[in-house]
Parts: sequence; C-alpha cells; structure tokens
Amino acid sequence: MSDRDSVARCQTMHNITDNINQVSTRLQQSAKQFHRSVDAIMLLAVSKGQNSQALRLAWQAGLNSFGENYLQEALEKMTALNDLDLCWHFIGPIQSNKTQDIAQHFSWVHSIERIKIARRLSAQRPAHLPPLNVCIQVNIDREASKSGVDPEDCLELALAITELPQLKLRGLMVIPQPRSQLDTQRQPYRQAAELLNNLKKSSAALTSLDTLSMGMSGDMTAAIAEGATIVRVGTAIFGPRTKTKTLHPNPTR
Ligand SMILES: *Cc1c(COP(=O)(O)O)cnc(C)c1O
Repeated sequence: MSDRDSVARCQTMHNITDNINQVSTRLQQSAKQFHRSVDAIMLLAVSKGQNSQALRLAWQAGLNSFGENYLQEALEKMTALNDLDLCWHFIGPIQSNKTQDIAQHFSWVHSIERIKIARRLSAQRPAHLPPLNVCIQVNIDREASKSGVDPEDCLELALAITELPQLKLRGLMVIPQPRSQLDTQRQPYRQAAELLNNLKKSSAALTSLDTLSMGMSGDMTAAIAEGATIVRVGTAIFGPRTKTKTLHPNPTR
C-alpha cells in the first residue's frame, strides 16, 4: 500500500468512526427525547455500494449488523469479511432465483412482499440454521411504483408467513416518500406503527411481532419517535455511495 493509500484509508477510517459516533449520538438523543429505550433500537448499517474495507472499519467502530440490497455484491463482502462475526440483513427487492442464497447466507430479510418468495425462503433455509427473521415490506404511502404490499393486504400475508416453519415473522418494514419536516416525516411511520399494533391484536399467531424497520439517514428521528426498532442508515455512516445504484435495481440483475 502506498503512503497516499494509507493516508486516504486513515481518513476514511476517521470519517466512518466519526460518522458512527454522530449517528449513535443522534439515535441516543432521539430515544431520550421521545422516551424510548436506546436498547430497543438497533442501528443497521446499510452498506450497499460500499466496499468490504468500509464495512471492516464500521465493525472496528462497533457495528456488526449490515444491510445489503444486492445479492452478488453482498456475497462478495461476506467472503472478504468471513473472519468477522457479522449479522447480515437483506433489504432489497427479491427475485425467485435469489432466494436460495439469501436463505443460506442472511439472518434477516426485511423486504418480503409475496408469499411465493416467503415459501421459497422457508423451504430453502438450511435446517441447521435458526429460522430466518423476516419483515413484510409495506407500501405505506401507496405509491404506484413502489415495492411493498398495501396496508390492507398485510394481515393475509402475515398469517400465511406464520405457517412457514423456517421463517420467523418479526414485523414490518417501510420506505416512505421523502419528506423534509419532522411532523410530516412522522405521519407514515405512525401509520406503520398502528398497522403493526392492529396485526398484533387481530390474531394470536401475531401477538409476538416486535419489529418496525423504519428510518434512514434523513429521517431516523421521526421513525424513532414513532417506535422504530431497527433504523437502516447508509449515507450518514459511510458517506455517498460509490456505486451508482438506487433503491430500484435493474430487474434483469
Ligand atoms: C439504501 C437504503 C437505506 C439507507 O438509506 P440512506 O439514506 O443512505 O441512509 C435504507 N433502507 C433501504 C431499504 C435502502 O435501500
């Protein structure tokens, strides 16, 4: 490694460590402000578009749960980081031909929106592993082009998932439309929290749901105010993504 490389690496390290400290502080302040227990909120580092070295630095700074949207990219990082004890969360859209690898290599899937995908994940989850933790992705703003089930279709999908032996349904995941003010940011998250509560009340099979995966770099305070248990933070930890990928990957990939 050249001197210049190691200087650059050193700066990246400071940045990521500083960023994580800032995000943790923000998380703690938000929890305090809205009377939430800090221990009830997990910081998931969204590492899509970041290289394995950046994840290693985040691990050194104390994080061990990483969220990935693209299978191939995630598998490469898992190999490069197999000396670390990490917890991997799949948070992107899922095509049928990706379920086997996801079932084998991840601990969580946040983006379930079809029973067919859930059935495949359960069938392909290796018997020696604990059940895969899953969340239903809900299209909380009912955007025409967005992933996720409509709120009124959630109960049926939730009940069907509870029948699957190798999945453990944990709760809901939402990605609302971007909004700029705390008040307006809170609205979709409040709706998601209400939806989770209604699910819990509607069937004995759903009373143990405990997860609201919501809140990103720009709105984690609003999500925490409304009960988020997992915040998914990318840019605020790693800075801008180097690869030009969006929330909506090319479907042929
Ligand atoms: C990229 C992504 C995030 C993180 O977004 P940031 O704005 O970078 O914090 C969170 N959730 C999902 C599903 C994502 O795809």
